[in-house]
Amino acid sequence: MNMNNPKILDEVPFEVIGEGRALLGEGPVWDEKRQRLYWVDILERRIYRYDPAGNAFERFELPQYVGALALRERGGLVLALQDGFHFYDPDEGRLERVHDPEPDLPDNRFNDGKCDPAGRFWAGTMSLSGREQAGSLYRLDPDGRVSRMLEKVSISNGLAWSGNGTTMYFIDTPTRCVRAFDYDAEDGSIRNGRVVLRFAEEEGSPDGMTIDEEGMLWIAFWGGHRVGRWDPRTGRRLKTLALPVPLVTSCTFGGERMNELYVTTARAGLSDEELARYPLSGALFRITLDVRGAPAVRFRG
Ligand code: CA
Repeated sequence: MNMNNPKILDEVPFEVIGEGRALLGEGPVWDEKRQRLYWVDILERRIYRYDPAGNAFERFELPQYVGALALRERGGLVLALQDGFHFYDPDEGRLERVHDPEPDLPDNRFNDGKCDPAGRFWAGTMSLSGREQAGSLYRLDPDGRVSRMLEKVSISNGLAWSGNGTTMYFIDTPTRCVRAFDYDAEDGSIRNGRVVLRFAEEEGSPDGMTIDEEGMLWIAFWGGHRVGRWDPRTGRRLKTLALPVPLVTSCTFGGERMNELYVTTARAGLSDEELARYPLSGALFRITLDVRGAPAVRFRG
């Protein structure tokens, strides 16, 4: 990993939200009904909830690694834990097992996930010991059925759907690419996978992502000190938001006007020297932008 970040780029005014420093902060989701931000610390097995109006933080402990969460329409959350899909009500502390698609793969854990435009929850897996192509991308439907949508995935990461609901974007981190698929909202199928963005090593490794109202992808780069805004139609980089930490993991839009980008980061694996040099590693950042995102889709089951 290249910790010396050479050419930067668009300096942006960012805010550091709270005092917490996650080991592996990930998966931010904005709840536009309650105006709260959720995110996870995968390795600390925690969910965080932040109320910007009251500047209040809550923390919920889980028994397993938590890779991703989505809001449910009926309230509460759906989670991708190490052992598969669960429902969780943070206010009552109730955890309910839904389905584990990989009971035979104890070395895998779930990683990033998100709901598609029709309210199905997609989440993928990765090997805890770094085995290549040992993971898959799954789709949990509102009726509880689970389908394996992609196999031979190494580190299943960022997901996003175009505003018109016809394209899905997906990152398998070690491929250093974003792939696009034709997505059918009716039956939740994907086809015609193709590479639309390919990243040079100096960018860092593509991790989590979100999409804005203009159809541009905002991608967090692990080892890249940055979030980049990329045009998936031309393959061009439009903007780089430089952050004072190397391990930038994911981002999502939130706030009353949906123009605030919340960015999660990590400190896992950094040396003492690196932590001294980048003391904000693991912090949650907020950057106010002149473009907006769409509210997170809720799981319909
Ligand atoms: Ca990730």
